[in-house]
Amino acid sequence: TKTAETLGFQAEVKQLLHLMIHSLYSNKEIFLRELVSNASDACDKLRFEAIDHPELLEGDADLRIRVEFDKAARTVTISDNGIGLSRDEAVANLGTIARSGTREFFSQLTGDKQKDAQLIGQFGVGFYSSFIVAEKVAVRSRRAGLPASEGVLWESDGQGEFSVSAIEREERGTSVTLTLRADEDEFLSSWKLREILRRYSDHISLPIQMKKEEWDAEKSEQVVKDEWETVNQASALWTRSKSDITDEQYKEFYKHVAHDYEDPLAWTHNRVEGRSEYTQLLYVPKRAPFDLWDRDARRGVKLYVKRVFIMDDADQLLPAYLRFVRGVVDSADLPLNVSREILQESRDVRAIRDGSAKRILGLLEELAQDKPEEYAEFWTQFGQVLKEGVGEDPANKDRIAGLLRFASTQSDSPAQTVSLADYIGRMKEGQDKIYYLSADSYAAAAHSPHLEVFRRKGLEVLLLSDRVDEWMLSYLREFEGKALASVAKGGLDLDALADEEEKKQQAEAAEAFKPTIERLKAALGERVKEVRVTARLVDSPACVVVDEHELSPHLLRMLKAAGQ
Ligand code: ADP
Ligand code: MG
Repeated sequence: TKTAETLGFQAEVKQLLHLMIHSLYSNKEIFLRELVSNASDACDKLRFEAIDHPELLEGDADLRIRVEFDKAARTVTISDNGIGLSRDEAVANLGTIARSGTREFFSQLTGDKQKDAQLIGQFGVGFYSSFIVAEKVAVRSRRAGLPASEGVLWESDGQGEFSVSAIEREERGTSVTLTLRADEDEFLSSWKLREILRRYSDHISLPIQMKKEEWDAEKSEQVVKDEWETVNQASALWTRSKSDITDEQYKEFYKHVAHDYEDPLAWTHNRVEGRSEYTQLLYVPKRAPFDLWDRDARRGVKLYVKRVFIMDDADQLLPAYLRFVRGVVDSADLPLNVSREILQESRDVRAIRDGSAKRILGLLEELAQDKPEEYAEFWTQFGQVLKEGVGEDPANKDRIAGLLRFASTQSDSPAQTVSLADYIGRMKEGQDKIYYLSADSYAAAAHSPHLEVFRRKGLEVLLLSDRVDEWMLSYLREFEGKALASVAKGGLDLDALADEEEKKQQAEAAEAFKPTIERLKAALGERVKEVRVTARLVDSPACVVVDEHELSPHLLRMLKAAGQ
């Protein structure tokens, strides 16, 4: 037999373990949720691989999760008959964190427990949360399809190292045995474990089983029978009717599919019938994941076909600007052997994508309408991503435009809270344009001399400074019939807003400054196209503007910086 091999955890795993034990202690029962969630994922994966390779089921297609405990040994064991782990998979998946951006993420940790606990939760605690309550964790597994001689035992005390050895294992799948720390006896109780499972894992679609217990009147105590019973509802949550699902169940299901630790911000659950049939349960998270801007990051929703899990992050199911959405789509039309290539071409998938985008936009509109504070929270987290939709999704451009929020001269704050509809509602008599100014930063925009005349006339100007804004504006020319106009471009027609007295003054000034204008033109020569008297400044003597149809100076600078 092969001897055990001792290996070290990746540095980030060590950090995660240390922090988790200290910062999530008050919420320690989540370890059970995480281990059940992994067991469920492992069964989903097996069922999927078995579509093409039915022999992997080895004659046992009743997938289930079992939870048991041993008072004397002080252990709790969570087992599944899912896909299992080979030796190499155990080393790779239980010793490292594979997500890209992990290193940068850990470099953000501050040492402040409260803050870091939030960050860790956002990162996803997963398997390692076992060590919050366990002084030792042993994982025994055999991957489906491998011989009994290729079982693996992975063990660790969570102190920086783990060991792996080969074992003989008949059963397919994984069992995780936690040896509890000295003061964690509360988990050695059938009642306690059932209560946690009901609270956190009732949405799991597989049966979760525990040993049956019965009251023995003669002995006058609870005795454990050698018989399993199912302790959850064991039907896929999204297939149940809305009225049978509590908010708590929706939230726990979200944590499972999104691998998130926090509650979602909002969700939408629908069964769509007609030409294409599917169920969607989609969530908007509360907080952007640390890798929102990472192109390789895990994203999108899980795809099921007739309740069989097909794939994670099926990004075809939503347009890219909604990549922060999590959840499941269960199609009744797609074939079970659907591949990513087929997804790209499929009309059913296009119908799902269009339908899902509309649902999410509807959900956001409701949120904006009914819970403006929560919408503001959403906007700070995901607004910049949503802006991409203005260019990417012509069919929904107007709805997305309605969801946009901006900083404006109306408030003295960089907070993006003003909608285009708010702006239109405050427009002055005679004003027919939505004025904006874009700059590298909010401060640069707010202090621009271009704003002087607008301030004087009491005209609101939207202040744009996100990187995506200029690009977005090239697609957003108008909203509800009102053109968007940059205050940094020439030909600003503010005449309609000038009163008689102002108009007279302007005409006089134009006359009086004719010689000055001529001299300036001569002095600047080729460098300018035109020099003219303007009514747009109050305190500054002069400003440079570009022609209406030319690129704005801000965009020009960005293009130059990009080497174009
Ligand atoms: P996540 O579930 O977000 O991927 P975890 O830390 O919970 O992260 O699990 C890490 C990895 O370990 C999983 O992605 C999976 O590859 C593997 N794993 C954990 N539990 C099991 C299990 N019961 N069966 C098979 N693989 C598992
Ligand atoms: Mg997990």
